[in-house]
Amino acid sequence: MFWNRHFNETEHAFVHRFFAHSLAALQPRLRVYLRRVGDTHRALSLNGGRIYMPRACFVDGDPTRSLRLSHPYVAGVFAHELLHQWQRVRGVAVTRQAAWLQTKAVCLRRDPYAYEACDDAALMLARFVSAQVEQQGQMWQDYVTGCVAGHADPAFAEVAAYVAGSPVVDAPGAAVSAVIPPGNSSRW
Ligand SMILES: [Zn+2]
Repeated sequence: MFWNRHFNETEHAFVHRFFAHSLAALQPRLRVYLRRVGDTHRALSLNGGRIYMPRACFVDGDPTRSLRLSHPYVAGVFAHELLHQWQRVRGVAVTRQAAWLQTKAVCLRRDPYAYEACDDAALMLARFVSAQVEQQGQMWQDYVTGCVAGHADPAFAEVAAYVAGSPVVDAPGAAVSAVIPPGNSSRW
């Protein structure tokens, strides 16, 4: 069994900073898991509020301590995985979509994370809304990385408001992703 624990106060504060109340329904169930040795350095998000993070992302490499959320890269990766939880809360079958994207990426050599950046906040929101799960994850990761690094990109302003302000809906897609067994090890 994976080692895991509830989010601590610092991690909950981070969720609140970037998601406001849009993950509130899930917040009591959010748990951080240590990725096993051999699982590469990648992070992972599974249904039910489970976030898997590599050991290097924790203070002193100690998973009983906080994630290093003042580090822009760690914050960005954590935000990416949290956004997948946000997508699930909204009824998106993240695991199924992500698996299909990874398959396509291998077959077509297409980067599932790539998106077209722009300076216009309204246009960026339009792109975010129509993007697939990994593009949304990457956009959110870039936004949060910038915020934590001290240079928030204003082009993400409307995306930030959209993610933090979106209403919580019951998730019909949760049932779909719930039947996919955990333990798939690709990054998503
Ligand atoms: Zn992802």
